[in-house]
Amino acid sequence: MLKNLLDRFNKKAKKNAYPEPALMNSYARLPVSFVRGEGAALWDADGKQYIDALGGIAVTFLGHCHPDISQSISLQANTLLHTSNLFHIPAQAKLGEKFCQISGMDKVFFCNSGAEANEAAIKITRLYAREKGISIPTVVTFNNSFHGRTLATLSATGNTAIQKNFEPLVEDFIHVDYNDLEAVSALTDNPNIVAIMVEPIQGEAGIVIPDEGYLAGIRQLCDDNDWLMITDEIQTGMGRTGAWFAHQSDGIVPDVITAAKALGNGIPIGACAAKGKAAHLISPGSHGTTFGGNPFASHVAHSVIEVIEDNDYVNKAAELGSLLKKQLQQHLGTFDHVTDIRGRGLMLAIELDKVYPDLATVFLEHGLVVNITGGGKVIRLLPAVVTTEKQIKTIASTIGSVVEQLR
Ligand SMILES: *Cc1c(COP(=O)(O)O)cnc(C)c1O
Repeated sequence: MLKNLLDRFNKKAKKNAYPEPALMNSYARLPVSFVRGEGAALWDADGKQYIDALGGIAVTFLGHCHPDISQSISLQANTLLHTSNLFHIPAQAKLGEKFCQISGMDKVFFCNSGAEANEAAIKITRLYAREKGISIPTVVTFNNSFHGRTLATLSATGNTAIQKNFEPLVEDFIHVDYNDLEAVSALTDNPNIVAIMVEPIQGEAGIVIPDEGYLAGIRQLCDDNDWLMITDEIQTGMGRTGAWFAHQSDGIVPDVITAAKALGNGIPIGACAAKGKAAHLISPGSHGTTFGGNPFASHVAHSVIEVIEDNDYVNKAAELGSLLKKQLQQHLGTFDHVTDIRGRGLMLAIELDKVYPDLATVFLEHGLVVNITGGGKVIRLLPAVVTTEKQIKTIASTIGSVVEQLR
């Protein structure tokens, strides 16, 4: 039955697909082209409506075409887009203040993507090493982590599939098991370690939440050994987990925070923020960007933070996430082939007993946009905070009926 449904969907999608002979083959794309969005709803070229429970991979936290953001985009588009960082940019300074206020950091560097934010963080670890007289600076990262696709960030990433064919990698990242403090404390006699880079919740790995006290343990090890603690908040940040940044729920303050995805709600922007000794290492000539923090992206990202603040969307994400988790437990909790339902705020996962091929396409046929990650066994949900309660219920019931058919 699923097969017929899939064939029908694929055939229709093929008919409507715009040919892509000129595109490099970097993605095995799902068979749909969306043409319009509003809130948590998307429409394809046939006018079919979907509920978007993925939000462009944790990007459109405020939903599609949020009226305040559209207005902010339009205002700035008609005022000034770009001047370069050779000049002062008041919108960037204003965004910087706001970002430091919500993150507890002292200084921030704006760029255009998550990978670039992590590149900046990794460069900060190199500068920190120079200051400490360490010539082979080593950064600890984690198995199954994801930090980006540039050479340094894929080297940091703890996934050999992502690194394959790009060797030689950038050297001196040590990967250890996530959620295992012993594995990190076993490294304390390595004099070359300068930093630990960690996702507070592992996203691409399948929404892996560490034990309570784990991040605080890493903070302590960093304090004891004079290492920088970097939290990669690119997927978890900007309110999604019920805190501005997921590590804040653990009551810790890192030395460096990276953010991107939801910061621009779809306008590309990234941020690498730092505190204390890590905040003053970048100086003129040591790092830069042409586009980063331009008037357009800065103005829009400032509006994004304002909209989240003004509507108390950080708490709303926690509430809506609890509702969705409860609904998922109701619809899926009794299935033997569902091995776990987990998550925090609007970052949720349903883990299945095995890989079910074409599952994302089956969900599309049912009018639901989700993503499969965690080695193909995890249904990942990253819905917008403007998703209505009715849509939340439909997300859960749709997943319930599709997953039931997998038995
Ligand atoms: C998405 C992501 C990145 C990379 O961000 P890009 O904007 O795709 O470069 C890095 N770290 C984490 C945790 C991510 O989820």
